[in-house]
Amino acid sequence: METIRFDELQLDERILRAVTDMGFEAASPIQAQAIPVQMEGRDVVGQAQTGTGKTAAFGIPLLQKINPDSKKLQAIALCPTRELAIQVAEEIRRLSKYMHGIKVLPIYGGQDITRQIRGLKEGTQIVIGTPGRVMDHMRRKTIRCDHIHTVIMDEADEMLNMGFLEDMETILSQLPEERQTVMFSATMPAEIQNIARQFQKEPVTVKVVKKELTVPKVTQYYYEVKPKTKVEVMCRLLDMYAPSLSIAFCNTKRQVDELVQDLQGRGYFAEGLHGDLKQIQRDRVMSSFRSGTTEILVATDVAARGIDVDNVEAVFNYDIPQDDEYYVHRIGRTGRAGKEGIAFSFVVGREVYKLRDIQRYCKTKIIPQAVPSLDDITAIKAEKIMEQVMEQIRESDLTKMVSLIERAVLTEECTSLDVAAALLKLSMGEENEDIIDSSRPARSLDDLDRYGRDGGGRGKGNRGGRDSRGSRYGREVREEREDMARLFVNIGKNQNIRPGDVLGAVAGESGISGKLVGSIDMYDNYTFVEVPREYAGAVLKAMKDVKIKGKNVHVEKANGRGR
Ligand code: AMP
Repeated sequence: METIRFDELQLDERILRAVTDMGFEAASPIQAQAIPVQMEGRDVVGQAQTGTGKTAAFGIPLLQKINPDSKKLQAIALCPTRELAIQVAEEIRRLSKYMHGIKVLPIYGGQDITRQIRGLKEGTQIVIGTPGRVMDHMRRKTIRCDHIHTVIMDEADEMLNMGFLEDMETILSQLPEERQTVMFSATMPAEIQNIARQFQKEPVTVKVVKKELTVPKVTQYYYEVKPKTKVEVMCRLLDMYAPSLSIAFCNTKRQVDELVQDLQGRGYFAEGLHGDLKQIQRDRVMSSFRSGTTEILVATDVAARGIDVDNVEAVFNYDIPQDDEYYVHRIGRTGRAGKEGIAFSFVVGREVYKLRDIQRYCKTKIIPQAVPSLDDITAIKAEKIMEQVMEQIRESDLTKMVSLIERAVLTEECTSLDVAAALLKLSMGEENEDIIDSSRPARSLDDLDRYGRDGGGRGKGNRGGRDSRGSRYGREVREEREDMARLFVNIGKNQNIRPGDVLGAVAGESGISGKLVGSIDMYDNYTFVEVPREYAGAVLKAMKDVKIKGKNVHVEKANGRGR
C-alpha cells in the first residue's frame, strides 16, 4: 500500500491547511487516484462509495478551480437525496474554510424556494442539489448555467435508482459544452455507462484495484452504533472481553487524539500513534505497548504500518476503514503466532454498506452482534471481583477483617450477606442509566444484499423507471428503523442550537417522552430527528408555529427523497 500525502498533490495551501485541520493523515486510495486526474481537467468516472473519502476526492479539485472573485455560479454537484446534498455541502465548506469568498449552497425539495433564490442571488459559486429542485431553478432562470465549468454527479447509480435519469440528462444537456464532467458511482449499470458515453469527453475511470488478499483467521463482529455512543460501546467490549493488548484504528489523527482522551478519561491505559508524533514519542508509545503498560494502542492506518507486536488480542475498527485492503491489514494485527484473535467493527448509518462490501470482497464473515447491555457488564464485573475475592480467601489471612465484620453484624441491623453485597456494589463503582439500546443485534450483512447497492446487475431493485422513484432508498431507510420516522428541522448548530434544545422542544411541545426520541443528527443549518412513527403526525402538528431558543422553526417529514 503506497501512501500519498496531501502535500504531494500540489494543492492550494489553504486547502492543505483545511485538510490538516480535519485531521486527515493521508489521501485515501480513491483520493490519491482521482485528485490528480480531476486537477488535470479531465472528465472522471470514479467508482467508489460512501466511506471511501469520495466527497473530498471530487471536492478538493473542484475548489482548486473556483474563482472566488467571480460571484457567478461555476459548479453544480447533483446528489440523490437532501441529506447527501447537505453532507456534501458541509464537507466542501470545511475544505474551503480558508478560501474566503467561496459560497456553497445546498438546494433541495421541501425547502422554501424563495430562500434558495435569495441564497443563489448572493453570489453562490457552487450549488449542491437534488436533480428535481435544480431543474426547477433552471426553469425559473434562478440558476444560470452560462458560467458553469464543472458538473459533478455524486452517487449516480443511486440517482438512477430513484428515477432521476431523465432529470440528470436534461440538466447535463443544458450546461455549456466547454465543461468538466465528473461522475461518482458505487456501481456501473448500463444506464450510467450510457450517461458517461453521452455526456463525458474521454473520461478517465478511477477505482481502487483490488488485490487478492488472504483474510486472517480472526473472529469478526460488528455493531451498529450511534456516533455519540461509540466510546461507551468500545468500553463495554473492553470490559466484557478484557483483551490484554488491543489496537483501535481511526481514520483521522484528530479522532485518534479524541479517542485516547476519552479512554484515558475513563481510566483505560490508552496511547495514540499518528503521523504528528516525533520519532522519540513513537518509540516511547511502542515500548510502553510492547511491555503491556499501555493496553490499548489507538492508531491511524499509516502510523500502524510496520508495527510488529505478536500478542494483540483484539482489533477495534473504531472507524470503518476507507479501503477494503485496510480492513484486512487491520484485522491481521491480531490472531498472530497461532493465538486466537478477535476484531470488532463499529458502523454508523450507511457505513453498513461499506462493511457489507468489505465482507463480500474479503470473502469473510463479519457477524452482527448486539451491544453488551449494562446488565451483561455488571455480571462480568461481578464475576471478576468474585474471582479476586476467592483468591483473597484462599491466599490471605482475613482474621482481622472477619472480626470487623462480626462487630458490624452484631451492632448494626444487618447480616454478613448484606455487608458482602454492599462491598461488592462499592467495588463495582457507580451504575449509570443505560444509554444504549442493546436489545437489538446489528442486521446481518447478507440480508442487506436484498436491499442495498449491488455489485453491478445483481440487485433486484428497479432501475431507472419513474415508478421506482424513491423505492429502494425508501426501503433502506425503513429497514434501518422501521418503527421510527425521520423529521427535518430547519435550524442547526449555526443558530446556536444544541441537540438537547431540539429534544426538549419535540418532547415538550408534543408531550411524548424524551426517551422515545431517536437519533438527532445536527448539521450547521439543519437537524434531522427521529421520532416513533406512530407519533410523527402528532409531533408535526405540535411543532407548528413553535420557536426554539426564540427562533421560528419549520418541521417536516424528511422523506429521503430529492423533492
Ligand atoms: P465520504 O466517502 O466522502 O462519505 O467520506 C467519509 C468520511 O471520511 C468523511 O467523514 C470524510 O470527512 C472522511 N475523509 C475523507 N477523506 C479522508 C482522509 N483522507 N482521511 C481521513 N478521513 C477522510
